[in-house]
Amino acid sequence: MQTQHIQRVVIVGGGTAGWIAAAAMSKLLSSNVSITLVESEVIGTVGVGEATIPQIRRLNGILGLSEDEVLAATQGTFKLGIEFNNWGRIGDRYLHTFGDAGINLAGLHFHQYWLRARAEGGTASLWDYSFHHRAAYAHKFGRLERVGNTPMTGLAYAFHFDAGLYARYLRSYAEARGVTRIEGKVVDVALEPERGHIASVTLESGAQVEGELFVDCSGFRGLLIGDALGVEYQDWSHWLPCNRALAVASARTEPLLPYTRSTAHEAGWQWRIPLQHRTGNGHVFCDSFTSEDAAASTLLANLDGTPLSDPRPLRFTTGRRAVFWEKNCVAIGLSSGFLEPLESTSIHLIQSNVSRLIELFPTRAFHPAHAALYNEQTAHEIELVRDFLILHYHLNQRDDSEFWRYCANMDIPDSLQAKMDLFAATGLLHKEPEDLFRESSWVQVMLGQNLMPAGYHEMANRLRPDQLRDFLAQVQTIIAKATSGLPAHGDFIAAHCRTPAAQ
Ligand SMILES: Cc1cc2nc3c(=O)[nH]c(=O)nc-3n(C[C@H](O)[C@H](O)[C@H](O)COP(=O)(O)OP(=O)(O)OC[C@H]3O[C@@H](n4cnc5c(N)ncnc54)[C@H](O)[C@@H]3O)c2cc1C
Repeated sequence: MQTQHIQRVVIVGGGTAGWIAAAAMSKLLSSNVSITLVESEVIGTVGVGEATIPQIRRLNGILGLSEDEVLAATQGTFKLGIEFNNWGRIGDRYLHTFGDAGINLAGLHFHQYWLRARAEGGTASLWDYSFHHRAAYAHKFGRLERVGNTPMTGLAYAFHFDAGLYARYLRSYAEARGVTRIEGKVVDVALEPERGHIASVTLESGAQVEGELFVDCSGFRGLLIGDALGVEYQDWSHWLPCNRALAVASARTEPLLPYTRSTAHEAGWQWRIPLQHRTGNGHVFCDSFTSEDAAASTLLANLDGTPLSDPRPLRFTTGRRAVFWEKNCVAIGLSSGFLEPLESTSIHLIQSNVSRLIELFPTRAFHPAHAALYNEQTAHEIELVRDFLILHYHLNQRDDSEFWRYCANMDIPDSLQAKMDLFAATGLLHKEPEDLFRESSWVQVMLGQNLMPAGYHEMANRLRPDQLRDFLAQVQTIIAKATSGLPAHGDFIAAHCRTPAAQ
């Protein structure tokens, strides 16, 4: 009897998406499944994508990678959050950290106690109670699960790395586990006549690569999902209007900062990502509101170090495929959709979609339930992230440019409006279980962009005034002590994961 199990997987594309898919499948599927990856060095990769979120540690853990080894191989540094400048109003600054502020007490989020203290005349900011904030601005870092014997959790962190080096690292990993890499440009895609499934891809050399399951990791073009299978792209530009970026590296500066910076400009924003050997920078903007020349001048005028090349242009349309899994093809990475890099979510979405594909791994029968579930879950996940990004743009009080006025006045999804209304009235958050971003993330962005709740939760009144005062003071004491015990971020890297000089 012929087996129903899929035996040949073909991945088209060798960017971060292709190699994450290849690495994870080669680790988790059985050796009965052969995995072939086709990529074209002539076409190359998108070549950006240097900031991550803490969930990347889970991927490294599943693959069994040593964190220090990965960081040393990728010029990596640690990331405690993202600093947002000029997003609410010009001159505003807040850090969206990966950790909770303070200590949640008796089933109530810390920010509710802080809101009460504020209602009673307190002037401290929420970030005065954030360990991540204090450590980040002291340029310190350490691996800490808990803070001593206190109830405070330690530092949640992610990485900045050179994404090209990360893909190269995963390539070695995957090839060592049997993945076959074929260099070549796909010029044709053959479909089965009856079912319309992809039967094979043809390379410029004339070679044909056949498979049963095809993973489209071909980047923005969507060679299989779009060109071959005709799945449409849903455009979300009316909510997230930025459609261009200019990327440039600059010389490394001291000290080595353990956070990403995002600075809002007239028609978009600029990222700064500190790596061991250089700083990555880019200006994400909307070409309906500014020109490429003006965007390049703004970018170059706001670098911390000398630029190492001319800015490199990129174009994109924020949105997603109508479906991500069509017939025997699953699109992962830029081919499946794109949310701009404001919260560094793309690599995470790749990793999440690869896990989902492995979890729902089909048989040769390709039962429609597999694809339906995959499509539903993937759409929900990306839409929740989309709403979080829209929040950053919409919640601004800037009146200095058309772009920011457009964002402040645009219609937003009802789900986001409901979240903002609830928070404004009560300080509560409606957290959906599948949402990648935790309460503390939403709270930080809303407060950081000046949405101050009118009230606070009644449970916060359980503490007597002196108890509340002592509790808040105690949190600050714990944070100060914990931060003073941490090494400098640069020293930590030098001790654990410095990239050898030649790399
Ligand atoms: C401006 C910008 C900034 C970003 N910053 C971040 C960030 O900070 N953090 C983050 O998580 N993500 C970020 N991203 C997203 C991130 O770069 C991508 O999600 C990630 O690199 C994955 O890309 P990919 O592998 O899907 O596509 P690509 O890197 O474009 O790879 C496509 C692959 O397909 C191959 N290919 C294409 N056509 C053919 C063909 N005909 N034949 C053979 N091979 C072919 C190419 O050779 C290449 O190997 C950013 C994206 C942009 C645009």
